[in-house]
Amino acid sequence: MKRMTVVFLAFLFVFAGFAFSKTYIVGTSADFPPFEYVQNGRYVGFDMDLIQAIGKVEGFQVEIRDMSFDSLIPALKSGIIDIAIAGMTITPDRLQVVDFSDPYWSADQDVIVKKNSDYNLAVLFGNNKVGVQTGTTGDLWVSDNLIKTGILKHIVRYESFIYALQALINGEVNAVVLDSPVAQRFAQTQPVSIVGVIITNENYGIAVNKGNKTLLDMINDGLAKVKASGQLSQLVDKYFGK
Ligand code: GLN
Repeated sequence: MKRMTVVFLAFLFVFAGFAFSKTYIVGTSADFPPFEYVQNGRYVGFDMDLIQAIGKVEGFQVEIRDMSFDSLIPALKSGIIDIAIAGMTITPDRLQVVDFSDPYWSADQDVIVKKNSDYNLAVLFGNNKVGVQTGTTGDLWVSDNLIKTGILKHIVRYESFIYALQALINGEVNAVVLDSPVAQRFAQTQPVSIVGVIITNENYGIAVNKGNKTLLDMINDGLAKVKASGQLSQLVDKYFGK
């Protein structure tokens, strides 16, 4: 074969690979550092890198759609997105409507208050106001264990943790309940402190619409490969390293 032909064929293969590789729309809620957040106008974080890495080994492209956390499952159900990755806990209720990949992270719920305030864990009792993000496991825990039982009078639900955090700093709520890894990150970067942990033993999974076995198998295969190659521990170092 002539050299020119070889070069031409090489280009054709690269182009065809790019042009025909499938693009999946990936929903997230980019208010959850270090899993997903916005930096210099880009969606970055552990989950963002993880789904890109899975796409790379499985041969698909990723297009990120940012939305409120409680819109993610409806968006999967209606086909607006193909995949959801958002530090999403695998729960029995969610498993009724979507399918989850193998777990890739674990978390509990932390209670945060404004830095240098006098609050302790008793902030979860009585007349205090506790902020949560709508539809999260933090919301569910506070609703089921504190509000329904009458232990706590007020829960304030926010569409985004950004608003919940602002409300806490402005003194509109006395505490916020949220996932421990994210609370720890906020405690390093914002004027807030952790005053307690609620052990909930949650596991994060990547969600697809119920019954989308082909995509789920691909994600699990990619996840296993990304783990085995050491890329996953590199991501852990990148986003959680000291
Ligand atoms: N892990 C929690 C949940 O699944 C919170 C996720 C989030 O706010 N991104 O409900």
